[in-house]
Amino acid sequence: MKLAKRVSLLSPSPTLAITAKSNEMKRQGLDVVGLGAGEPDFNTPTHIIEAAERAMREGRTKYTATAGIPELLQAISEKFERDNGLTYSTKQIIVTNGGKHALYNLFMSLLDPGDEVIIPIPYWVSYPEMVKVAEGVPVFIEGYEANAFKVTAQQVKTAITPRTRAIILNSPSNPTGSIYTRQELEEIVEVCLAHNILMVSDEIYEKLIYDGHEHVSVATFSKEAYENTVIINGMSKPYSMTGWRMGYAAGNQTLIQAMVDLSSHSTSNPTSFAQYGSLAALTGTQEPLEMMKREFVKRRDRVVDLLNQIEGISCLKPEGAFYVFPNVSEAMKKMGYDHVDKWCEDLLVEQKVALVPGSGFGSANHARISYAASMEQLEKGIERIRQFVRRG
Ligand SMILES: *Cc1c(COP(=O)(O)O)cnc(C)c1O
Repeated sequence: MKLAKRVSLLSPSPTLAITAKSNEMKRQGLDVVGLGAGEPDFNTPTHIIEAAERAMREGRTKYTATAGIPELLQAISEKFERDNGLTYSTKQIIVTNGGKHALYNLFMSLLDPGDEVIIPIPYWVSYPEMVKVAEGVPVFIEGYEANAFKVTAQQVKTAITPRTRAIILNSPSNPTGSIYTRQELEEIVEVCLAHNILMVSDEIYEKLIYDGHEHVSVATFSKEAYENTVIINGMSKPYSMTGWRMGYAAGNQTLIQAMVDLSSHSTSNPTSFAQYGSLAALTGTQEPLEMMKREFVKRRDRVVDLLNQIEGISCLKPEGAFYVFPNVSEAMKKMGYDHVDKWCEDLLVEQKVALVPGSGFGSANHARISYAASMEQLEKGIERIRQFVRRG
């Protein structure tokens, strides 16, 4: 079958691939420790489920406005005001089928063939693929481990060409969990504004920040920064709602309207009753989120501790999200591996631990471990990694 060029260039999501393989092994009855998943291991809080259930019973099972129900748009607008000090009218907001879909719609609405988008490495697996589908060109700059995997304003500046249209910022980051400081962001914003570059700020891990650090949105820095930022956010990560497919974007009204028009001919509205669940998530108690955060901090500390005790593995302690991104290059070398994909594959087959190889995030020396798993599973998984590395 001859396929369109735009899809033949796609690489399948490596995170979903490893999860599929480990699920398959589990189905065969094997005792697999899955540390690959990019989703919280907690259930969606009950009050959110009940709100969706009520909406269904009350007949809210029909098409809604493409951009989302007015109550939810209003609640998102209030969330921006309350949490970020940002003012967005409901016309500057679109509710989408997950944050992923918001990003996809954005690039489809923004890019002409050959337009460049700067993507810091390590990146979330879908960014380059979405840019390519929209016929844009990903331009990579490397966030070095010595700088906690973050890029500098100077690096951004060097990557800019007359074709640069946008940059993707993701703080806290998937896969590294790193967060940018206000100072670092201010310097990057200055460069972007000087070159008229749109900042795509993926803030989906905004609520998962530890040790008293604060989330900073680049849109808050100045009027110009606000006008040149599109914020991407969603329900999946803060409210354990990955399966609900609920995300949103906020920014320039003309751009958001284009995204709405595109949705109107592709997905139409996001699922009606899931929108009512999201409304409850934003306006109801935030206690389940606080509970989840307390749990994540404990696990992060333990995981980083245990990993650093393994010879040949070193792991930074990140301040956000629910991932660590240990450097496994010494262990690989000692064991005779020259590719992290093969290392992760053998780890899965021999010790039955699923990690995501760093290659999917643009990094050949690392692997991503998700600590969205119970402490018991985490300890068991890391002990198995230790055994695997000891094999030599
Ligand atoms: C999970 C994730 C998203 C969006 O996920 P959805 O489930 O589509 O909302 C976006 N960006 C990053 C970096 C993520 O990890």
